[in-house]
Formats: sequence, structure tokens, C-alpha cells
Amino acid sequence: MKSAYLYVRVSTDEQKRKGYSLPEQEECLLRYCELNNIEVKGIYREDYSAKTFKRPEWKLLFAKLKQNRGRNPENVLFLKWDRFSRNIGNAYNMLGVLREINVQAMAKTVSQDLLPLRGYLRCPLCDGVLTGSASKGRHNHYYYYHCQSGCKWRFKAELVNEAFEMEISKYNLKPGVGELFKAVVLDEYLSSHREDGDERKQIAKEIEEQEEILSSARKKFLKEQIDEADFKATKKECTEILQRLERRLTDLPNRSGEIRSIEGLLDILVERYSNILQYCNNQDVMVKRQIIGSIYPEKLCFDGKQYRTAYLSEPLSLILLINRQL
Ligand SMILES: [Zn+2]
Repeated sequence: MKSAYLYVRVSTDEQKRKGYSLPEQEECLLRYCELNNIEVKGIYREDYSAKTFKRPEWKLLFAKLKQNRGRNPENVLFLKWDRFSRNIGNAYNMLGVLREINVQAMAKTVSQDLLPLRGYLRCPLCDGVLTGSASKGRHNHYYYYHCQSGCKWRFKAELVNEAFEMEISKYNLKPGVGELFKAVVLDEYLSSHREDGDERKQIAKEIEEQEEILSSARKKFLKEQIDEADFKATKKECTEILQRLERRLTDLPNRSGEIRSIEGLLDILVERYSNILQYCNNQDVMVKRQIIGSIYPEKLCFDGKQYRTAYLSEPLSLILLINRQL
């Protein structure tokens, strides 16, 4: 394939979902073309549902393809088949029509999947950021991560990716450790907000004191040990102090909602990291790259044998610590 038209599509209801935006699709396809030396003849950006092929941008692209009258083979690339059509019958018919005018339409994600770490790796020789690309063998493409601008470091993508799977497996939470992990994080959270609890206790104690003063004044008044004016004065003072204390109590931040959302997040985290490798491999490459970025805030360095990491995000350092001690 020497050249191709790119077709990206999103419908309004898909807009918000990750990996579906037009720029994300476009970036992936452009990278595929760059890796494989494919000339991009045009990009068609559709904001329309895939029920039928009666879509404004598709019509434009189709008209363009027909102008060629089948003289030269043409290609149309999209990221996934559901970008082309959501109806198998329609898709099949359209593929037939395109074939008649010497056009091949195909979904292209493969090479992307083979270089998921592109841009996340540091060169062990010169510290530069590694890129990745395919080089054409006699029958196949071979994929490499390699350094740029003069530095010769390169390594087979397959080996780098395999070693990376070993690397993230280190963060797999062992069975039963999830609950411990949750307990540790929650405990840490609660102890860093302990002063709220202390203040609440202090106010409760003061409220109790005021109520005792009021009750003893009432008893004394009934036993005629104090007169009515004294009792009324004490009652007024106590009531004012009590109102102030109640206000302070309601103004204290309520942590129970916060704790519930932290517990929710912890549940998600534990579920993911109880099988991190499988979770990662089930995602498409864009989500996978987001996961890699969240695990390693700094670039990774693969020295040919293993990964060296300077800095880990905090939850992962904790998982590592717990795993090592068990
Ligand atoms: Zn280098």
C-alpha cells in the first residue's frame, strides 16, 4: 500500500467515550501511515451515525474515489470496522461497490498495538525519548523501539513488550491483599483528618457541660435555692452558648461522603490490580497507553534486560511494598 484516504467517524452519542474522538482516531491512523510509509491523500472527518452510508463526508470521499474510474488501486483506512459501518449487510455491499472501482477499504490498528510503549521509553545510552517503527523484511514487517537523531540504540518491540508485561505483573495484587490495601489507604486518610474528629468530641463535651449547668440551675430553682431572675439569667446564657456550639458542630466538614467515594475508587483500583496484566491486555491500545502513563509518571528505561524506573505513582509503590512483605 503506497497511499490511502483516511476516514474517521464519530456520532454525537459516542463523543464522550475515550478513544472515539476524531483527533484520537486521526492520530492513530496518521501514525500507522507514518510507520508504514503510506502517503495520506486526504482525511475525511465524519460527525454522523453509521446506520447507513448516507453520510455527508462519506459521500464526498466516495465521489472522489469514483473520479479515479478504477485506474489506480486506492485504499481507504479507518480505525475499526464499526467506524466504517455498524450494519454488516451494508458494509458488505459497500465493500463490493468499492472493489468494482478498484478501492480497498480496511481497518488498521495492528501496528499501533505492536508499539504500545512508543513515547514512554527513555534511551539507556543518551536519555532521549525512544520512538518505534516497522522495518520491512522479505516477507514481514519487524517492529522496533529505537532512538533518534544519530543514536543507534534499538531493540525488538516484541522483547521490550514482553519484558514490560513482566514489569507490570509486579504490581498485581496477590489474592486477599486487596482488602488489606483498602484498609491501609483508608486508615491513612482517616488519621490525616483526625483533628476533625477531635474537634467534634470537644464540642460534644462542651454541650454536655452546658446542659448539666442548666439542669442543675433548674433543680436549684425548684428547691427555691435560687430565685426566678437568677434561673432565667442562667437559662438565657446556657441557651446562647448551646446554640453557638450547635452551629460549630454543623459547620464541621462532613467526611462520610468523601469516605464513600474513596471506598468506591479503591474498589475499582483493587479490581483492576488484582489482574493488571489481563486488564491491560483487554484494552485497546489507546486506553492501554493511558494506563501505562498513569502507572509511570516518568519515562521508563529498558536496558535490554530489565526495566529501571525512577519514580512510581503512590498507590503502586504501596502495592509493591505490600506484595514484597507477604
Ligand atoms: Zn539514544
